[in-house]
Amino acid sequence: EIGALSDLETVSTLGHGNGGTVYKVRHKRTSNLYALKLVQIPSSDSESGSLLRSQVGREMDILARTDSPHVVRCHGIFKKDAAGDVALVLEYMDSGSLETLARRTGTLSEDVLASVARQVLLGLNYLHGLKIVHRDIKPSNLLVNGEMEVKISDFGVSKVMVRRLETCASYVGTNAYMSPERFDPETNGGCYDAFAGDIWSLGVTLWELYVGYFPLLPSGQRPDWATLMCAICFGDMPDFPENASPEFNDFLSCCLRKDSNKRSTVSDLLGHPFVARDRDAPREAR
Ligand code: ADP
Ligand code: MG
Repeated sequence: EIGALSDLETVSTLGHGNGGTVYKVRHKRTSNLYALKLVQIPSSDSESGSLLRSQVGREMDILARTDSPHVVRCHGIFKKDAAGDVALVLEYMDSGSLETLARRTGTLSEDVLASVARQVLLGLNYLHGLKIVHRDIKPSNLLVNGEMEVKISDFGVSKVMVRRLETCASYVGTNAYMSPERFDPETNGGCYDAFAGDIWSLGVTLWELYVGYFPLLPSGQRPDWATLMCAICFGDMPDFPENASPEFNDFLSCCLRKDSNKRSTVSDLLGHPFVARDRDAPREAR
């Protein structure tokens, strides 16, 4: 529906990430607002250039396939040339990400998190149904609008699975929200259910938003890869927040089973009492 990039004017900058900058833009004729994600790809044949090119290629491919109220919508994809910069015109989410929201408010209440959990699970249910694993669920990739709708975004490292099982061959970077079997596929005999990784990341995300710091390391810091991997694969899990309700505690423990075969699936969790609490609540009471 956006004819050309020249129909858009920049309003402000929304965020920076891996090789990309996201701008708030206005469509001149309609005054509609969008988010424009611009990924600049170095023209040389550098390793970082080809990595970025494959990431943005995956992102374009997945955005073109998805159409769900729980996934950020794409209204246009523009490419300068075959190898050059890419611009993605996305639905504008006016409250930013859960990371920026939590930075403003400190922590989020259980009722808000029950709603977040339900919406992200509905998004994952949709994606997993299309055999798409997100692989980068974390607060900065979950976007929020003024109606407190939460949508999954940023498909830079996502993957369309051919089979359900993942082998160690498909390495994709490191992030603090990664499950034990993704750090070390040997923990599951070198082969694991790719979709279970998104559930782990959701658990870490909700826990972090509740306590206000990254919960898997005692210091709350995000140190190097080796420290993280040791803590996540071999360390004891820290205790869940003691002031949390039994339902929230149980929900977290279902997401955060180290053995991915024992971890709950999206459909298990959509029936969990913690999530049902949100569905039962009248909308204005949330
Ligand atoms: P990266 O791949 O660099 O992480 P993201 O797509 O996650 O890029 O975008 C980076 C940040 O920009 C997000 O964390 C968010 O704060 C902001 N952002 C991205 N898309 C939107 C959007 N559609 N609406 C509002 N803010 C957005
Ligand atoms: Mg991101």
